[in-house]
Amino acid sequence: TYNFCAGPAMLPVDVMQQAQQEFINWHGQGCSVMEVSHRSKPFIKLAAEAEQDLRDLLAIPANYKVLFMHGGGRGQFSAVPLNLMQAGKSADYIISGAWSLAAVEEAQKFGQVNAQDIRIRTAEQLRGLVNTSNWQLNENAAYVHCCPNETVDGLEFTDLPVTSVPIVADLSSTILSRPIDVSRYGVIYAGAQKNIGPSGLTLAIVREDLLPAKNAAIPAVLDYRLAAENDSMFNTPPTYAWYLAGLVFKWLKQQGGIAAMAERNQLKANTLYQYIDQSGFYRNDVDPTYRSWMNVPFFLADEKLNDLFVSQAEQHGLLALKGHRIVGGMRASIYNAMPLEGVQTLVSFMREFERVNG
Ligand code: PLP
Repeated sequence: TYNFCAGPAMLPVDVMQQAQQEFINWHGQGCSVMEVSHRSKPFIKLAAEAEQDLRDLLAIPANYKVLFMHGGGRGQFSAVPLNLMQAGKSADYIISGAWSLAAVEEAQKFGQVNAQDIRIRTAEQLRGLVNTSNWQLNENAAYVHCCPNETVDGLEFTDLPVTSVPIVADLSSTILSRPIDVSRYGVIYAGAQKNIGPSGLTLAIVREDLLPAKNAAIPAVLDYRLAAENDSMFNTPPTYAWYLAGLVFKWLKQQGGIAAMAERNQLKANTLYQYIDQSGFYRNDVDPTYRSWMNVPFFLADEKLNDLFVSQAEQHGLLALKGHRIVGGMRASIYNAMPLEGVQTLVSFMREFERVNG
């Protein structure tokens, strides 16, 4: 089967097989890695190795802390304003789709938010975005928050604004899919359940000068400084998810790293978009400049066929293609772990479905 779920998403088959082999007896410990203390030497070694592999993959500069946290993307929606909104300073928030909008709603609980809606719509779907060079940014803001890949809407932008204000980015559904220049960001965060590993683990990559003051009134589990000073082990971290993330990072290195993944991801996305575009039976309304490589929403010309499409796809081993309830239609999430053959199998199925029902 190929699992097109937006998250929790499929993991690389090799990683799952290794985890299965090591499940009961991890590295001769006589028990599972999930049963081992996070303070034990073997786990600390695993944790440090995972961090180093991630640093290598993304070329993370030395002045950034890598934090393995709890709480998911939404945990970071709270953590970011709590850690970064210094007294009296507002923050700019760019709304490019459903998730950046949710981030605004959370941040408003903690301080003054200047939200800017850059969405360009058609009746049914977002079509594009206002170019980054036209964003109205406040140079006195504590930070500007954005979500470069909108998982629900299937829009992605890759250029960042030029600003002296720290850029905070929710990369939950695009991290590790293509190279990024970490030094352009103040904070990067991502829930693990798409391109990293299982849900429950959240990565935050934080420039050192943005760590909050000591003893700031921040819930301890969301405090970047506490996490950094305790090697992400202030409280018990999600150890099994950390272990799996470590295996995914090693797998990514074996695949040739992030540049190799980007080539593969572009080919996968092009394969699917090209098929959709030449068909009169399926459509995607997003301006090609903003089409996501990771999340591809599409519509059937006859919406009455939606249920039949989903159930027949499942019978062909193509799982979780139903679109997000806000957008409707279909959505194929094609993260790093989805092989090109998965996308080709989906296209073959779509072609046959069109032939029979078109
Ligand atoms: N941000 C983005 C871009 C997402 O895609 C998601 C979830 O899919 C979230 C945030 C929320 O993540 P979580 O469910 O881990 O809180």
